[in-house]
Amino acid sequence: MTWRASVLTLFPEMFPGPLGYSLAGRALREGRWALEAADIRGFATDRHRSVDDTPFGGGAGMVMRPDVVDAAVADAVNRNPGAPVIYLTPRGRLLDQGLVRQLSAGPGCVLLCGRYEGVDQRVIEARGMLEVSAGDIVLSGGETAALLLLDACVRLLPGVMGAGASAEEESHGPEGLLEYPHYTRPAEWQGRQVPEVLLSGHHAEVARWRRAQAEEATRTRRPDLWARHQARNNQPHDRGETGRLDGHPAAA
Ligand code: SAM
Repeated sequence: MTWRASVLTLFPEMFPGPLGYSLAGRALREGRWALEAADIRGFATDRHRSVDDTPFGGGAGMVMRPDVVDAAVADAVNRNPGAPVIYLTPRGRLLDQGLVRQLSAGPGCVLLCGRYEGVDQRVIEARGMLEVSAGDIVLSGGETAALLLLDACVRLLPGVMGAGASAEEESHGPEGLLEYPHYTRPAEWQGRQVPEVLLSGHHAEVARWRRAQAEEATRTRRPDLWARHQARNNQPHDRGETGRLDGHPAAA
């Protein structure tokens, strides 16, 4: 079955955007994944096709109406049954490679892109949406976060990356390490040499050096990931990922 992404947005023309190029674009044309972007405004029922209203309790900005959003979600869920419904929001759990792996192994996803101050909380709860953040930043809309999430998921789908490429060895792989640094020709550039070991032809030594570099980069750049990696290594039976999409441990 084709991995299907249903995006709900006020700006459907933003899709596929960058996902129409390179690996994701080719995979889209080959039918390895499918994308449909629906205009939330198409589900408004009043004469002005309004999708937002003023916030109860006062304050600046507008809030997306639950009835309009719910109708849009219902339509997407109908066309993409079984896919988790995700609301992109800075209030959500952080997107990470573990969640990306889980999503790409599933049937696809329904992505709700907010605008203005966001979406009425009642429809988020009523639809059991998973709230996901693209980072501790505030974007002007959920579309760029949706593109980011889809890019990360699509490249993990079967046949999308070249046969030689391995997601296992990349940064944020199952081991939770950052990747080692890369070098190519020329061997000397502006007086800077490629590390000697990479020119040696000794595969085992190269692998050892890369492993040490990956560990050093993780330890110095991301102490949070390093601590998690070490904790995981001390628990040999830990699967490294929680079984639930919301990032909370699976119930025993
Ligand atoms: N008032 C909201 C808050 O402070 O949490 C921010 C609203 S933001 C201006 C408008 C929309 O952009 C949000 O509804 C959400 O869909 C999207 N957005 C903003 N930052 C995001 C992030 N870090 N991750 C995912 N979506 C984000």
